[in-house]
Amino acid sequence: MTDSLSKSLYCSGVQCPKMLWLKKHRPELFDESVMNQAVLDTGSEVGDLAMGLFGDFTEVPYGELSGMIRETERLLAAGERIIAEASFSCDGLFCSVDILQNNGGGEVELYEVKSSTSVHEIHYHDVAYQMFVLEELGFRVSRACLVHINREYVRGKELEIEKLFAVEDLTDTVRQMQQAVAERVIFLKDCIRDSEEPARDLGPFCFDPYECGFWKHCTEDLPEPNVFQLSGMQKRTMFKNYWQGIISFEDLLREAKLNAGQEMQIEYELEDLPDHIEADGIRKFLEGLSYPLYFLDFESFQPAVPLYENARPYDQIVFQYSLHYYEEEGGPLLHKEYLAMPGGDPRRELAEQLCRDIPAGVCTIAYNMAFEKGRIKELAGLYPDLRDPLMDIHDGITDLMEPFRKKLYYTKAMQGSYSIKYVLPALFPEDPALDYHNLEGVHNGGEASAAFAAMAKMGPEELAACRENLLKYCGLDTFAMVRVLEKLREKAG
Ligand code: SF4
Repeated sequence: MTDSLSKSLYCSGVQCPKMLWLKKHRPELFDESVMNQAVLDTGSEVGDLAMGLFGDFTEVPYGELSGMIRETERLLAAGERIIAEASFSCDGLFCSVDILQNNGGGEVELYEVKSSTSVHEIHYHDVAYQMFVLEELGFRVSRACLVHINREYVRGKELEIEKLFAVEDLTDTVRQMQQAVAERVIFLKDCIRDSEEPARDLGPFCFDPYECGFWKHCTEDLPEPNVFQLSGMQKRTMFKNYWQGIISFEDLLREAKLNAGQEMQIEYELEDLPDHIEADGIRKFLEGLSYPLYFLDFESFQPAVPLYENARPYDQIVFQYSLHYYEEEGGPLLHKEYLAMPGGDPRRELAEQLCRDIPAGVCTIAYNMAFEKGRIKELAGLYPDLRDPLMDIHDGITDLMEPFRKKLYYTKAMQGSYSIKYVLPALFPEDPALDYHNLEGVHNGGEASAAFAAMAKMGPEELAACRENLLKYCGLDTFAMVRVLEKLREKAG
């Protein structure tokens, strides 16, 4: 096993040496379903854009490590001033600097690019490591900075990258960290060379700064279910219980401070209780609905780089909705939908069609309505001429999540959650038409966002297939709401 370290392995080791060891020795144990936030933070689109921050630059082409290092040496020797992906290696330590400014005479400035909107502690470690590698090689690092997204930037007609990015000078702090980096490098290399998996108890660092993909592996000996599967408990309280040996649901029931919902989750789990139904409460909720009745669900994406005028980085851009509806009680279930084509700003067109599709004064249902209401309010702010009809839709929304949040209807299979992800399969365990796993290509909101973002680069056939997948996915979201409402009616008698 080679004890070499890259920048990202070093940062893994800062978070947890055991994570580093597992990445080196047992990578097959990594749970791919854990969103790799560390990789997302290093978003290549943002990195590519930032390369232009300092004017003309030369990029070291991605490829074999030794080739990248040789090319960097060649560019430095040729006096190239701005080098992107400048790559270095020293004593088994490797790093690629996002943007290197070559001031000549061995003096350089390094700029690490992140798609986050502020500087986090792990970024200091990241930049300190790069400074260490460069100075071990004999360079003098006169400036070490983090380049991140400026959340306050509002795009005009054209993208202004110097306003989109904020440059934070970390030089003094990372210089003071150099001795600590040297010591940590020795410690982490020793850790990698060890053939035994390091012993490390669980802690909040398993989720901070990034969720660890080895969580399943590290918790495989815990009783099932356990404190980490309890709904509505803060992570630090979970760990407090865990460290006190209050781990199983039995332990929790006996010894932990629980709220009513948590007690319910545990009792239903341990005693296998039948469904809990408060028919009066459900009837009261149903009496608040009226016909025509609409079921609305939005899909959105959050580009780090604002694509449209008046958008800020990470704004939620709504690009799709599905609308099932009944014009009258007992009438047929009808459907309308909107899905933007890639390229233009979808918000105006979507807002206009939404105002046409949902008549004034009707009752609209959403699941977890804060999201739909939030997006509608943003659209109303953007388009004052559509403000009245949009706010009319906004004010007419009822949250289908409420009966489940209030535990008017609860089953063991909901596992303490009222999210639609748990509620739907709990209510319809055997219904393939309501199973998102049976969809093609798009199975959740994250995949829908990614699919829409990717549409801009698709050819006609792929685009058509992608649109069909998105329409089916969002359509199922509102159809599921229709079925959930039916189930509530059935249970309320
Ligand atoms: S789950 Fe926690 S203890 Fe296990 S490797 Fe990851 S960070 Fe370390």
